[in-house]
Amino acid sequence: MSQQTITDEAKKRLDSLFDALSIVSENKHVFLCDMKYDFSRWSKTLVESFDLPSEYMYSAGTIWEEYIHPEDKQAYHDGLDAIFSGKQTGHDMQYRARRPDGEYDICTCQGLVILDEQGNPEFFGGAIRNHSQRSHIDTLTGLRNQFGFFSDLQSYIRNKIPVRIGMVGIGKLTEINEVYGYHVGNMVLQYFGRYLMDNVTNRGGTYRLDGSCFGIITTVQNEQELSDSYDEIRAFFRKGIKLDDLDVMVELNAGMLSLNDFNVDDQTVFSCLNFAYEESKINKHGDLVTFRNELTSENRRRLEKLHAIRASINKDFKGFYLQYQPVVDAKTEKLIATEALLRWKDDEYGVVSPDDFIPFLETDPIFPALGEWILKTALQDGQRIVEYVPDLIMNINLSYSQLERTDFTDVVWNTIRNAGFTPKQVCLEITERCRLLDMELLRNVIVTLRAGGVRIALDDFGTGFSSVGLVKNLPFDTIKIDRSFVQQIEKDEREKRLLNNFTDIAGTFGADVCVEGIETSGMRDIIKDYGIHSFQGYYYSKPVTIDELLELVKNGANCFSKEI
Ligand code: C2E
Ligand code: CA
Ligand code: CA
Repeated sequence: MSQQTITDEAKKRLDSLFDALSIVSENKHVFLCDMKYDFSRWSKTLVESFDLPSEYMYSAGTIWEEYIHPEDKQAYHDGLDAIFSGKQTGHDMQYRARRPDGEYDICTCQGLVILDEQGNPEFFGGAIRNHSQRSHIDTLTGLRNQFGFFSDLQSYIRNKIPVRIGMVGIGKLTEINEVYGYHVGNMVLQYFGRYLMDNVTNRGGTYRLDGSCFGIITTVQNEQELSDSYDEIRAFFRKGIKLDDLDVMVELNAGMLSLNDFNVDDQTVFSCLNFAYEESKINKHGDLVTFRNELTSENRRRLEKLHAIRASINKDFKGFYLQYQPVVDAKTEKLIATEALLRWKDDEYGVVSPDDFIPFLETDPIFPALGEWILKTALQDGQRIVEYVPDLIMNINLSYSQLERTDFTDVVWNTIRNAGFTPKQVCLEITERCRLLDMELLRNVIVTLRAGGVRIALDDFGTGFSSVGLVKNLPFDTIKIDRSFVQQIEKDEREKRLLNNFTDIAGTFGADVCVEGIETSGMRDIIKDYGIHSFQGYYYSKPVTIDELLELVKNGANCFSKEI
């Protein structure tokens, strides 16, 4: 189709209408097309987030179509045809659009045709809302959060701007919370965030990354200068800060790296930074650790392992598999549930435990794909057990990053439906780390899932500082008490009292209690008197493959009581 070049007047008109549209469209991306010339203007924000060729485009509809998910393309194409052929005057559709990193964002697009005085289509304009776009602001400190951090980091890499990146964290925040209370912990975080920001402004950005960790991206290249500034900040906080009437001593840890090789992705940079930070925390008592490119062979191996694991996600999940650990009824010791536990294995690295890679991968944008695979595989495997144990519940662990995906609940419903599972036989376990999410969002997800029948458990209860707060604010079906609280129960009276308190709390909020880490019959005998609903632990069974579990239930060993 030959294209008429737009006239200056027509372009001016387009611009003024576009500006008007932009004013009224909070948080949405605007598009406007002069249909006579098929010439459009699109919001700068949209052009940047999807890396579109330009704000002004001829045939923008055709260009955009290339960004749309193959499965959604036809519907989009037909919708647009209907608009341009005059069959329809409005447009309201949802589709997935591809970002520069290859991931798809869910967008809804609403548009309307504006007719000229003769009643002919003149403009087609409207707004696109990107549902996957997350808030970039941390509500506690007001700083940019980890999404902001990653978005800025990607932009430095894309534009090849050399920067130094730091991760600074407050050591022992858990202790501060325990000694002074959660409220003081929050004040320390706010104080620290503000202090960092004041010291970094004009030279870069400050971010709250995760829990007690902050990020800094600065254009200051002088390593000594940065190291000196860290020493000053550290000395300041070590002396103690005044909060209300309290003097709180704060210890810091810090890692740093310089970004001058742009052949890396943001996640690799983050893993290296994390590595330097952990080194500072674990081996260097908080001294600044700079990540050197000349890695020791051990460091390199660890990073390579992580990358091999990460790459497996894109290779059709090669190497990943699930094991299942039985959960038994505390009274009858019959199998009532099994927990799916992730493993990764390959010839070079052997079997790798999830604790070695999940913490590194869970903020990675590709993690939700793995989460979906886990859900699907666990439910498919679970169907095989349900044949023998009809009421079996399948427990599946979630990472907090999965929960904030806008399509998460849909993924859950689809997977349950496709596997032929009953929602009430699915229990999703979430940990304390979900407190990093917006509470309202989390509550909505949990309430929606429970309304559909799915059970929700709070895992590792007691290990973090906000367990009680979470139980108070969110409706859980089950609370799983971490094994660290019962390890010594046979000789330590305090653990008994603690267990009593925990079951009291669970009871107050109407949740069942599962105790993990039952390793001996002695432990079981003591714990069963505390009004517990279920047990899990090596005493009953270690995690086993699905075939092994199947063998157990086929042989009628669905009762795990050792005395029978
Ligand atoms: P978790 O959810 O608390 O899982 C229980 C862990 O305790 C498992 O370790 C299990 O093997 C171990 N365990 C169970 N009974 C006993 C016992 O009697 N004694 C001892 N010493 N240990 C016991 P595993 O499989 O290494 O998993 C570690 C953690 O990794 C899990 O802790 C969970 O937080 C995470 N994880 C595992 N699979 C997944 C997954 O599919 N998705 C996500 N997001 N996280 C997972
Ligand atoms: Ca778990
Ligand atoms: Ca646990």
